[in-house]
Amino acid sequence: MPRQPIVSASSTDEQRQRDDALRPRWLREVVGQKAVVQRLSIVLNSCKKLKEPLPHILFDGPPGLGKTTFATVLPNELGTSIQMTSGPALTNPKDLLPFLTNAEEGSILFIDEIHRLPRVVEEFIYPAMEDFRVDIVLGEGIHARTITMRLKRFTLVGATTRSGLLSGPMRDRFKMHEHLEFYTVDELAEIVRINARKLQTAISDDAALEIARRSRGTPRIANARLAWTRHFAASEGDGRITLDVAQAALAMAEVDREGLDKQDRRYLETLVGVFGGGPTGVEALAATMNLPTDTLSDEVEPYLLREQFIIRTPRGRVATPRAFELLGRPQPRDTRGPPTLFD
Ligand code: ADP
Repeated sequence: MPRQPIVSASSTDEQRQRDDALRPRWLREVVGQKAVVQRLSIVLNSCKKLKEPLPHILFDGPPGLGKTTFATVLPNELGTSIQMTSGPALTNPKDLLPFLTNAEEGSILFIDEIHRLPRVVEEFIYPAMEDFRVDIVLGEGIHARTITMRLKRFTLVGATTRSGLLSGPMRDRFKMHEHLEFYTVDELAEIVRINARKLQTAISDDAALEIARRSRGTPRIANARLAWTRHFAASEGDGRITLDVAQAALAMAEVDREGLDKQDRRYLETLVGVFGGGPTGVEALAATMNLPTDTLSDEVEPYLLREQFIIRTPRGRVATPRAFELLGRPQPRDTRGPPTLFD
């Protein structure tokens, strides 16, 4: 039996394999994000006609919403190659150099978590993005000399969950900025149905909707919930995913009706139970939960904010009446809804 999918939206190896198998390969297969798809198809079309590389593109948004998917669709549409790396893997300019020199004309270089690129690597990449050249310093001290290397015209595609952490100069060098939004339930249900078909699993429409409703607006989570439900259906039933099967499987995975999982509920229980509903800083919450601050701010909070279980104020996070209701706790007497400017 596989590990229970108490999933976070960031990828583990198991999730990465599943994501790769289920990833749309063409822009027309991408569900939702209509405005992004439209803008990308315009630049793809124009760049093919003009015989130019795509402009450098930055995708931002919470994990699991399709940044890598968009990046991998682009080279298929262009009939070109892609090289993939990530910010934390590039500690030094020489780690990046092979990617730049291997880049073919019009190909894609994808850097995930680009906000984690060290400053020296960032500065090394600027002339590559602007003029398709790199300046390499040979030797040291008075014997040092700089040689300039020409590169093929490539496209840098960056992905980040924290666009606010990107330096201004780096951000400015991306000519397109695409922000990915959480998906609607109908969009996620469509993804679930398409992926069930890819996995040769029968699923009813109401079961697909149920999984969609309980997937935190995130395709990666929908894929994980589908994978778990599929195993559950095969083990406990005849393999078909009906509404009853989906509900039983999700209950066993401790996903509640709002789609929140253990980690979400632990966050709310800490904010409400330990900090009286806030306001409290994310660092204090992270320390109490014994989790990295980034996990809370990148993975847990965006959905809780969108669903208005919490709000962000200058003094910290505050639980809303909806959070108290979810936890079955009485509202504190001074819960007056979102604080005003004068609070
Ligand atoms: P990110 O890079 O933002 O963390 P991914 O692109 O890896 O997210 O998406 C995770 C998985 O979710 C993909 O493998 C794919 O199966 C699914 N997915 C994401 N976006 C879409 C979409 N718009 N349409 C269909 N499936 C999607």
